Amino acid sequence: MSSAKSVMIGELEFGGRAPMRVESMLKSRLETLDICVDELDMLKKAGCELARVAFPDESLSPNLRQLVEKSAVPLMADIHFNHKFALSAIDCGCGSIRINPGNMSGRDGLMSVLSAAKANGAVIRIGANGGSLSKRQIESHGGDRSRALVAAVEEQLIPLLDVGFEDIIISAKSSSVTETLRANFILSERYPFPLHIGITEAGSGIDGAVKSASGLGVLIAQGIGDTMRVSLTGESVTEVEVAYSILRSMEVRQRGVNIISCPCCGRRRADVGELVELVKSLLPHNMPDGLTIAVMGCEVNGPKEAAAADIGIAGTQNGLVMFKKGKVAAFGDLASIKEKLTSEFTTFAGSS
Ligand code: SF4
Repeated sequence: MSSAKSVMIGELEFGGRAPMRVESMLKSRLETLDICVDELDMLKKAGCELARVAFPDESLSPNLRQLVEKSAVPLMADIHFNHKFALSAIDCGCGSIRINPGNMSGRDGLMSVLSAAKANGAVIRIGANGGSLSKRQIESHGGDRSRALVAAVEEQLIPLLDVGFEDIIISAKSSSVTETLRANFILSERYPFPLHIGITEAGSGIDGAVKSASGLGVLIAQGIGDTMRVSLTGESVTEVEVAYSILRSMEVRQRGVNIISCPCCGRRRADVGELVELVKSLLPHNMPDGLTIAVMGCEVNGPKEAAAADIGIAGTQNGLVMFKKGKVAAFGDLASIKEKLTSEFTTFAGSS
């Protein structure tokens, strides 16, 4: 989206002029191969473009190899503390690995990983998390945790650049939004490599989604970031759905249908919450991306405020009104408007 350099993971470009990519991380354990494959299928359907998978034990290599073969989504193996796991992941066919060069069994271990990555065209993600900053790193930057994060990334970056390895994605994440923002402002100015962005350990539910959107929205608005993960306690598919919701809101990427609905007030003539659920239930799976559907509580402001919507409905004193691009298309009771919506959606889906 904004970095000068880009990398290829499988056939997908990250960084440069490529759109912001959406990532998630498998919540299933690699021991449960079939469950992992199912989770990856669901992630693919939700639009996930890269899935990180924890690879904590070399004995799981046969499973990782099979997962690479069966996965509907490119994988990034997440490795800590042992360069042999990284070598094994590359050997299993992972197109990308996430490592901390500082804990790859010394320089020789790291060099063997870089050679294998180079030979196999694997991308390496490096980066620092706020939670893993050392006392030394924080104190040497006068307690400025954002600068300490940048320095921690640079400590990992230098040995790779020293040997000319540049198929890199970098990241600096923290559970603090402001800390993450400042670190990413500096990194994006200083380095040409694709940036993975996210607010780590953002939490769950509404709080987690809002925290992620607060940070990611600011970065996206400034053209910073090339691949993103919304880190939520919960289903991995939800992470992807929230990521696309943020991208839709920032008008960066359209995926799926954009449903707008009014907040309701004393003028409402219909239960907007119920109508939104009805609209969702009527949508075929193959609706074109980027369509806007409005659900408004009354006909006084509804059609006007949602004039840009491709199709919308609003409550009236005598039932519902359906409108298209702000123009009234039909009046009727719930059953007849439901029928008309179904027919309109089928036409849209047929054209996609
Ligand atoms: S569309 Fe009507 S019901 Fe909804 S907030 Fe506006 S005025 Fe109120």
